[in-house]
Amino acid sequence: MTNPNPFSFQNKTVVVTGGASGIGFQIAKSFLEAGAKVSVWDYSPAALETAKSALATHGDRLQTLSVDVSQRDSVKKAAAELKNPVDILVNNAGITRDKSFAKMTEEDWDAVIAVNLTGLFNVTKGLFEHFSPTSSHKRIVNISSVVGLYGNFGQTNYAAAKAGVIGMTKTWGKELGRKGFTVNAIAPGFIRTPMTEAMPLEVLAQMAAKVPAQRLGETSDIANAVMFLSSEAASYVNASVLSVDGGLTL
Ligand code: NAP
Repeated sequence: MTNPNPFSFQNKTVVVTGGASGIGFQIAKSFLEAGAKVSVWDYSPAALETAKSALATHGDRLQTLSVDVSQRDSVKKAAAELKNPVDILVNNAGITRDKSFAKMTEEDWDAVIAVNLTGLFNVTKGLFEHFSPTSSHKRIVNISSVVGLYGNFGQTNYAAAKAGVIGMTKTWGKELGRKGFTVNAIAPGFIRTPMTEAMPLEVLAQMAAKVPAQRLGETSDIANAVMFLSSEAASYVNASVLSVDGGLTL
């Protein structure tokens, strides 16, 4: 029988990394609103407290854990604190350290690779045994970037990491399909987050003008795509990269 609401996430447990702010916060909020239990993993205890207050109406289904995804011990400690087997993992935590290649330091390279690429490996590895063994509805959604598809001036480290995320996604899609997983990536374009809101209005207008849709993306645009890929409705979507960029990369 067909599920009457393939977008209900009741009785599903979701882990969202980098879920205390920006895109990750909206993803966590959307899953909570759809009935899921959500474990938000983020770096800063203060940001986690703020997120917890903002999501207080769903507090009975929310867990917040301070985790550094670049540190394997930190990930293992958090995984041991999970209350339920995991159904859905959203690998969203990410950082930038932008500089032209000539100016980029070894530290800039190492920091971005450690969080944006090795962090995904650490979290997925650390949670692998925590997924429901019997579920045929296991989902991993990795947040890449259009930059991982097309490169970008000043982002050698970030573009390499985000391209690596796509390579991992396709490999896991091949390896884990038979174990009841789908694994997909989302490549967001320019999304309005606290980071972009700090930019001058004319710069934001120039960015929006480059997009065929003539606007920046909202965090909800990415959360909606994550919800779709995590839903019953997307059970035959595997190892794909969904660009959510208003047509930027056309
Ligand atoms: P954001 O607001 O900075 O959120 C990222 C979150 O990840 C922050 O709460 C951050 O914590 C956390 N984080 C950083 N390092 C971490 C670590 N080592 N362990 C655990 N958490 C860590 O950024 P966003 O714009 O929402 O981006 C979310 C994802 O979308 C990222 O992967 C980003 O690369 C990707 N993306 C964003 C855009 C865009 O236009 N915004 C476009 C394409 C792709 P702190 O704040 O404490 O560092």
